[in-house]
Amino acid sequence: MIEGFEKEGIYFVALGGAEEVGFNMFAYIVDGKIIVVDAGYGFLQDDFPGMEMGLADASFLETYKDDIEAMFITHGHEDHYGAIGHVLPQINCPVYANDFTLGHIRARLKEYHLENFADLHSVTANPVVKLQNFAVEFISLVHSVPQSAGLFIKTKYGNVLHATDWRFDDGKTAMLPTDYPALERISQEGVSLYVGDSTNMGSDKKEPSEYEIRESLIKLVPTLSGTIVATCFASNIMRLESLILAAEAAGRTAVISGHSLNQNFKIAKDCGYLQNCPQAFDIKDAKDIPLDKILYICAGSQGDYRSALSRIVNGENKDITLGDGDNIIFSSKIIPGNEEKIERMQEKLRDAGVEVISTEDYLVHASGHATPSQILAMYRLLKPQIVIPVHGDKRSIRAQRKLAVENGVGDVIIARNGEVILIKDGHGEVVSEIFTRKLGVDRKQLTPLDSQLIKNRKRIAFNCSVFISVVFSSDWHLLDLQVSSIDILEENEFAALRDKIIADIKENIDKEIVKLNGNENQIKEYLAARIRRQILKATDIKPVVFMHFYKEDASSVSSPNTGK
Ligand SMILES: [Zn+2]
Repeated sequence: MIEGFEKEGIYFVALGGAEEVGFNMFAYIVDGKIIVVDAGYGFLQDDFPGMEMGLADASFLETYKDDIEAMFITHGHEDHYGAIGHVLPQINCPVYANDFTLGHIRARLKEYHLENFADLHSVTANPVVKLQNFAVEFISLVHSVPQSAGLFIKTKYGNVLHATDWRFDDGKTAMLPTDYPALERISQEGVSLYVGDSTNMGSDKKEPSEYEIRESLIKLVPTLSGTIVATCFASNIMRLESLILAAEAAGRTAVISGHSLNQNFKIAKDCGYLQNCPQAFDIKDAKDIPLDKILYICAGSQGDYRSALSRIVNGENKDITLGDGDNIIFSSKIIPGNEEKIERMQEKLRDAGVEVISTEDYLVHASGHATPSQILAMYRLLKPQIVIPVHGDKRSIRAQRKLAVENGVGDVIIARNGEVILIKDGHGEVVSEIFTRKLGVDRKQLTPLDSQLIKNRKRIAFNCSVFISVVFSSDWHLLDLQVSSIDILEENEFAALRDKIIADIKENIDKEIVKLNGNENQIKEYLAARIRRQILKATDIKPVVFMHFYKEDASSVSSPNTGK
């Protein structure tokens, strides 16, 4: 039995994703057995040098990995599956997901050379997974990625619908079925707990359906001239199909640029989608098509500096350039936190004379998340006894709590990451807390965001650095002194300052050594402080000092040079 989880009932724990967008990783624990829901990345909002993405620390799950029955990935968005390459080796359990999601999981695991290690199972043909203490059913729900699902988790203590990413939609774009009969059936079976999406609680304006966006794009693209680039989320295959159809309507060919879109395109085709839509080309096969006969489609709408769009905006894409009279369609929303990056990118495009078309001007994007009215409709359908709002910023989560309370939900709990909530007899309460935190994805390793390493990086990034190399003879004669820096001044300007610093040290060091009685640590401190002070005086920069200190035959002679 897992220590602290011995009571009868369903334990719910968010390791990440409770009061935020991204970092989704949840655990349900019943009678000593655990299931894990999602293992996602999140964008790091603060400045962590070298790191853009983070994930929840899974060490709690690692401790109890022998008790984990399975992991379920709800859909193919990075904030739900992205961290699987880090988490799966820690917990080593079977993974269940739909085919489209599995396509992404396989690609991600391949990056970590884990594709042969993982025990992956498709639920597309058989959506119910029966385990020892849980039965988990994937319920199809409309979202901005194909084959997205809510999880209906049945236990002997009650049932849960875990549905963090969904919306209701007219369903006219064929790959987006909401399984209404299944929702009605689970409502009949009884839903003790609903854990659900808060993303769009901030606004109740009517969201257009995905089909309306398709019609709008098909009208818009033929009216544009010059080079046209459209950017959307790479996994939004319905949108990708709409853009390909819009290109056809304009007598243009859709040309896909960038690794992530090409990967999504291939996974979608492997899953049987996009079979009847017009042909789209990879950019390397489109060299002979005139520019005004192309609609370029690329990812990177969030301003990620490695994306195809960023390279276009920064003039680093050898195939696509945008200038006066050209057009760019942002068929995407802004993920909270990325506003400034996106605005900067759009301003740069406007500056170059490019017409920037976004949701502010035209019907070019619909959200994949539920409006408050739709959430209310979900409550009415499911009649949950308890609601835990997740997947949104703190304001949106509180707004959903208010909505649930005002509409008669008995128990509404705001969960914090790490809090353990026990669900029993239609009532839920926070009973304890486990350790969790955020880790930054630091190239190949994971680094805690509060670590000394990150503090050091920030210090160096904001304060600049100076490297001092100093050699003394055994009787404390200064034999060599080098001072260098790459980030304080331009090279030639620093050379002048460096010469001044070296001259100053040479002039003063002998008498200082006498004064400090040859104390090595104090001599080091003196050198660092004096050099730092001179740089501060000249530049107003207080650099971080790195020193290589060497004294010849230090073991045999340690008396100070008296200068005589
Ligand atoms: Zn999603």
